[in-house]
Amino acid sequence: HEDRAPKPIRRLQENLINRIAAGEVIHRPASALKELIENSLDAGSTSIRITVKDGGLKLLQLQDNGCGIRKADLPILAERFTTSKLQQFSDLSKISTYGFRGEALASMSYVSHLSVVTKTQTDPCAWKAFYAYGKLMEGAPGQTVDPKACAGNDGTIITIEDLFYNTPTRLSALRSTSEEYNRILDVVTKYAVHNPTVAFTCKKVGSTSPELTTPSTNTPVNTIRMLYGHTLAREMLSSSVTCDASVPQSESWKAEIHFSSANYQGKKTIFLLFINHRLVESSRLKRALENVYTGILPKGTSPFIYLNLQIDPRAVDVNVHPTKKEVHFLNEEGIIEKVADSLTDALAAKGESRVFQTQT
Ligand code: ADP
Ligand code: MG
Repeated sequence: HEDRAPKPIRRLQENLINRIAAGEVIHRPASALKELIENSLDAGSTSIRITVKDGGLKLLQLQDNGCGIRKADLPILAERFTTSKLQQFSDLSKISTYGFRGEALASMSYVSHLSVVTKTQTDPCAWKAFYAYGKLMEGAPGQTVDPKACAGNDGTIITIEDLFYNTPTRLSALRSTSEEYNRILDVVTKYAVHNPTVAFTCKKVGSTSPELTTPSTNTPVNTIRMLYGHTLAREMLSSSVTCDASVPQSESWKAEIHFSSANYQGKKTIFLLFINHRLVESSRLKRALENVYTGILPKGTSPFIYLNLQIDPRAVDVNVHPTKKEVHFLNEEGIIEKVADSLTDALAAKGESRVFQTQT
């Protein structure tokens, strides 16, 4: 029975641990891009320009005009668990930035060729650094290549090349570069709607003009018009719900909702859900809001819903695994019910006004 003898337990090598972790954070080009956009927003950027080649697999580049990264921080920038955003466990409950655990850039350095050009306002020039496996890239064996001075604007350019070059199974699972590009556009579109005062562009290498552009002076509904079209924008309704915590211990929250009226009949539901400015998914919320439209929309047609939900940070667990886009929060049922009610009322009011109009 030799084969039944337990095998010895061994400690995994750190490099292997980090490579496994990287694959969990970065699934595909669009998930890398989401992290990059959030970093740029955290850095206070008002302009975010994205360039893509082969659906982001060959090249994914983001240029922002945010605060930049201090040269002194470049050596540990791509190490796991290095961050400027979180210091103590108690910070987790009031976290207002997107990132907090310093895993994104580290992960990218494990599964792609990562380079960074960055300049702070007080730096006389920009600095360029290359990363591999969490560290500044090695030139001669054992020797890191120091960041190089170069020309550049204030802000940061992050370039990811050859994503998944060292994980061929992951790469072969992503077969269509056009599908990956569509996912990239979807992420950019949603962040652009939610951040109407940030100018976004997204283009493929070689395109003469970007596939997506928004100005930095906009409103959510105007951005929806630009990115989803007039037919939808004409039929947009809005409502908001505020819930002040009257009872101690219960949390206050507020919701701003932009949604299509009964006159808009989409092919499938478009649902943009931001909780505390983070793009997330909640199938329960989605289903509850879709249900509001049953009986209002013809069978087989679907609404557009953009929900901007702000909850007391203590009520959302942000420290879920990065792959868990599906979130849970306290008082979920109560919030879902009130948001759905608000939608129902606004749609009913709109219905009445239409009846009223036809009577006159
Ligand atoms: P996290 O966002 O969780 O801190 P990241 O790996 O995404 O972890 O980023 C690590 C750190 O690098 C951030 O905390 C931030 O200080 C810096 N950083 C990353 N991207 C940018 C950017 N676009 N502009 C300025 N600083 C950045
Ligand atoms: Mg981050």
